Amino acid sequence: MVIRNIWAVGRNFKDHAKEMGAPPPDRPMIFLKAGSSATVGSSEIWLPEWTTSVDHELELAFRFDAFLRVKEAALALDLTERNEQQIAKKEGLPWTRAKSFDEACPMTPTFLIQNLEELEDKPYRLWVNDELKQEGLIGNMIFSPAFLLSYVQDYFPVTGGDFFLTGTPAGVGPIKAGDTIKVQMQGYITHIWKVYQNKKQEDPA
Ligand code: MG
Repeated sequence: MVIRNIWAVGRNFKDHAKEMGAPPPDRPMIFLKAGSSATVGSSEIWLPEWTTSVDHELELAFRFDAFLRVKEAALALDLTERNEQQIAKKEGLPWTRAKSFDEACPMTPTFLIQNLEELEDKPYRLWVNDELKQEGLIGNMIFSPAFLLSYVQDYFPVTGGDFFLTGTPAGVGPIKAGDTIKVQMQGYITHIWKVYQNKKQEDPA
């Protein structure tokens, strides 16, 4: 399946906005991750060689079908190169380096849902090396998935197969080669990734 676009919203949890030192937004802050930065159902995350400060951001993701209905969800990692993002913020530059590098959007396999409401009371969690780091709940979002999935279509050319990422709760932190990342939404999906990093080729002596 080709993923053309990954639409995402920033600062959609008050506790995360606070940890990033930003006020909660009064309208959704939409940004894009390259569709080609996604991996779906892989058991490996390969960080680019140049990255030095990649953070996990656990997010509930939804997939638009050919009729732009939402019948599938997934858990996604909105991986973010935090140094690059800080530079971009300071200099008023786009976030592309920070958000759209190779494999910047690992996703679990999608799972079927009947409606958005059924997920409302289902917490989703992320562990790094068996340590619980993040827990999300739709009820704690500033803008609800129902609102956002409609909003993004009002402003942007959403196409079938596109994903929407609903923002991360507090607790973002670094991942590095050797780490094991587990995510779970009980009754729906459990998925594990092993983290690797591409290294520069040594010059032959
Ligand atoms: Mg995010």
